[in-house]
Amino acid sequence: MTTYNLALIPGDGIGVDVTEAAMRVMVAAGARFGFDLKSETLPWSCAYYHETGAMMPENGIAYLRGFDAIYLGAVGWPLSVPDAVSLHGLLLPIRKAFNQYANIRPHRLLAGVEGPLRTDGFDILCIRENTEGEYAGAGGRVHHGMQNEVAVETSVFTRAGVERILRFGFEQAQARRKHLTSVTKSNAQKYSMVFWDEVTRELAADYPDVTVNHMHIDAMAAKMVMAPQDLDVVVASNLFGDILTDLGAAIQGGLGFAASANINPDRSAPSMFEPVHGSAPDIAGKNIANPIAAIWSGVMMLEHLGEAAAAEAVLTAVEAVTGQGIGTRPGKNTTEEITTAVMAALEV
Ligand code: NAD
Repeated sequence: MTTYNLALIPGDGIGVDVTEAAMRVMVAAGARFGFDLKSETLPWSCAYYHETGAMMPENGIAYLRGFDAIYLGAVGWPLSVPDAVSLHGLLLPIRKAFNQYANIRPHRLLAGVEGPLRTDGFDILCIRENTEGEYAGAGGRVHHGMQNEVAVETSVFTRAGVERILRFGFEQAQARRKHLTSVTKSNAQKYSMVFWDEVTRELAADYPDVTVNHMHIDAMAAKMVMAPQDLDVVVASNLFGDILTDLGAAIQGGLGFAASANINPDRSAPSMFEPVHGSAPDIAGKNIANPIAAIWSGVMMLEHLGEAAAAEAVLTAVEAVTGQGIGTRPGKNTTEEITTAVMAALEV
């Protein structure tokens, strides 16, 4: 029997509840499809920060490298640890150190889920560049607190970085409906975004079966609301992808349904799977967090590990459950009820 070694980082708040739920479902899928998910739970979180002064141990990255995949719940406890500390102390270092340059987020309405739009449905795969661009961390501040204080934050777009995310986008489009929308703001940002557009045009020649559409981020935001059914694969820079995928989460019914994967496509290091949502301090400990985003992220992990049949079975089970109206609205069912229903549907 194949065994996969997973690093589990439940993190903070509802991250703990949804990780437990997702793991129960994935382990059950393993039992049904003949593989074993062996996991080690790592307590890295804001609580760990309070105990040790760091979000993870000094050798944290080196330690994670030995796992087949990383599954993360949510990290952040803004009531006692600044978000910039928790994010830069754990999530961002993992994404960068392991070259998880493709952040992929599926946006579609699951059976039975009513989103805020009047639409017959849509099926979008957003791909966000995950290591450079506007979040490269290049910048500085001088003259703190003075009238002449200056803050500079430079976006960094490298040919290698832009090419690899676009190629990933083209390949995903080839495996789906063969349509790629590249999102920039090249009318206003005449260096980085014009460069991105140029690279897109150059690469398009290598993927003649994929039709490419270039859109500006503002028009794209409107399109995701007005005509999301026209979109297939969407590729965007770090900042634009970040914003668009929150919009994507909103039109698919909310954060409780938004799954994501941080992929290292060449598999030289582990990839990381996590729901889009955060630790939700407002509902933490109440057993009402929707675990579906976390379970769907687990589906993406099973796909990445090569367990496509198990992944499909879990997603089918999730839709069987939402199709019955379970877990379709915030607070309608408990975390436990939704998880138990998915486990039961998986056994059918
Ligand atoms: P959030 O995603 O935690 O919550 C936003 C709203 O959505 C809240 O009202 C919450 O109750 C609701 N919500 C989120 N997930 C839900 C679920 N599964 N089921 C039902 N309702 C859900 O965002 P926030 O409040 O801005 O951030 C809280 C903390 O999480 C912050 O510290 C932030 O930095 C962190 N955060 C972490 C990640 C991550 O780990 N990847 C992502 C986003 C935010």
